[in-house]
Amino acid sequence: MSVKENLNTVRNQIKEACINAGRNPEEVKLVAVSKFHPYEAVEEAIAEGQLLFGENRVQEAKEKFAIISNKHPEAELHIIGSLQRNKVKDAVKIASCIESVDRIELLEEIEKQCAKLDKKIDVLFEVHTGEESKSGFEDFTSLYQALEMCSAGKFPHVNPKGFMTMAPFTDDKELIRKSFSTLRQYAEDLKKEFSQYELTELSMGMSGDFKIAIEEGSTMVRIGTSIFGQRQYLF
Ligand SMILES: *Cc1c(COP(=O)(O)O)cnc(C)c1O
Repeated sequence: MSVKENLNTVRNQIKEACINAGRNPEEVKLVAVSKFHPYEAVEEAIAEGQLLFGENRVQEAKEKFAIISNKHPEAELHIIGSLQRNKVKDAVKIASCIESVDRIELLEEIEKQCAKLDKKIDVLFEVHTGEESKSGFEDFTSLYQALEMCSAGKFPHVNPKGFMTMAPFTDDKELIRKSFSTLRQYAEDLKKEFSQYELTELSMGMSGDFKIAIEEGSTMVRIGTSIFGQRQYLF
């Protein structure tokens, strides 16, 4: 199957999942995860009107999107993978959103690098909701502390938009659902505490579990394999 066909299938599946869940399909954005896929695959998706992409390694993203952003300035990139401090400088240059903010140290570095560029960047707080994922804020208190520092004006170049999580890799649908509903609950509680921020984005759902994520309120699904095929970990 081609990227074009896969993309159409995924778009229809998202639409159907929204309708089944009684939601407006326009509430759910598709982040096409192009990691480990070549530049040409991204071009194919852009030809079909897909403009939002996700990558999890900064070096790879930088090489790929240097070309893409020249040719298609309207294309947008989210960083979705765990981010080392020394990669932040490049990450904030190429991305419109860092979805994987998992510690306060990272906020500090994002602020520092964005201040140099005079750029404001969107961030999502990654939350550890399932046993198997390693990164993410661990609980309500640590998320609260991070948002409290934002609202105290410590990170003026950082724009908190919401939350991100990865469900555990399991066939147990209820465990997956629990992971997503946990994220939604955190978001609802924190929205009340920090009403100056929109905090509307819930980035949850991947190729294997996006239907459940949409049922649980996802506003952003990050889909790689179902669009681009299996990843080749070669280049
Ligand atoms: C790779 C990746 C995805 C996409 O996973 P697929 O199963 O290929 O759809 C989504 N989110 C994150 C954080 C990823 O690293």
